[in-house]
Amino acid sequence: MSSIQVRDRVIELDIFDTLKKIKSEITNGKLNNIRVMGDSISVPCPFHKDGMERHNSCTIYCGDGDLPAGSFHCFTCSESGNFPKFVGACFDKDKTFGEDWLLENYSYNFVKKELDLPLIDLTPVVEEKHYLDESVLEQFSDYHPYMAKRKLTDDIIKQFDIKYDPLTRSIVFPVRDVNGKISFLTRRSIDGLLPNGARYLLDKGADKNVIYLLYNILKEDIKEVVVCEGQINALTSWSYGHPAIALLGAGTSESQMKVLNSTGIKHYILCYDNDLAGRKGASRFKKFIRKDVFVDDIIMPEGKDINDLSKEEFDNLVYKPLN
Ligand SMILES: [Zn+2]
Repeated sequence: MSSIQVRDRVIELDIFDTLKKIKSEITNGKLNNIRVMGDSISVPCPFHKDGMERHNSCTIYCGDGDLPAGSFHCFTCSESGNFPKFVGACFDKDKTFGEDWLLENYSYNFVKKELDLPLIDLTPVVEEKHYLDESVLEQFSDYHPYMAKRKLTDDIIKQFDIKYDPLTRSIVFPVRDVNGKISFLTRRSIDGLLPNGARYLLDKGADKNVIYLLYNILKEDIKEVVVCEGQINALTSWSYGHPAIALLGAGTSESQMKVLNSTGIKHYILCYDNDLAGRKGASRFKKFIRKDVFVDDIIMPEGKDINDLSKEEFDNLVYKPLN
């Protein structure tokens, strides 16, 4: 059973049964393939192609994740919203119709006490985005021997605009958004630690949805991608011939996953650090990634980074991952 907020009420229903009930009431041919996929349900999207797509691209979440039960998202047309909106669309009507239909059919399931749940708005927030001008890179040097020590090749340094900042004695990695604009800079101290004690430093106000090197993946329309936590691991993976992104930590936020779910990447090879945070991050990734892509999981030798492995050793892991 899932708890669904409808206006100021919460009703309890089984989403799968509800979809079958809707299907029995409509004559427009929508919902012709309802499939349970773990914690969610996959259906033909009622918002595009008149609901007649051949492969389901719409997922309805049943309430186990961070999204409210009944939230849906279409990977093809990007439509998303709450369950009443979805129900309305199945009837070729709007959200108000969906709310009325749910209250009419499941009124006996009212939770007696009206819950004061905040209404969660799933429409993407259009924010004033903050960019850095390319000239921000001019204050840095192009090279420092530490780059070679971390196996960053000249090609990689050039391709990804990696710089050295003498002021903070750190390697600078510009992080670009999906349009190629510099969203913020990250730094890695060549002395091991930055003045504030951290190894990596993100600009203040860094947009945490931005994924390092995703711009390059999309620009080259690369379909198979290695997923790393840190910048240097991702860059080493590129230099070994495996295009990679870095999530800038093991966190794997849901908003980052939304960004990945809107791309055409077909195959992810997870290469999180072999520690507790890394295992948690990998499992969050597998939970929130869309279900029509392949996900392989590399178990790194304990305490080792890609950087510590030779190309041959890393190739072996990539080609023989554990699922
Ligand atoms: Zn759609």
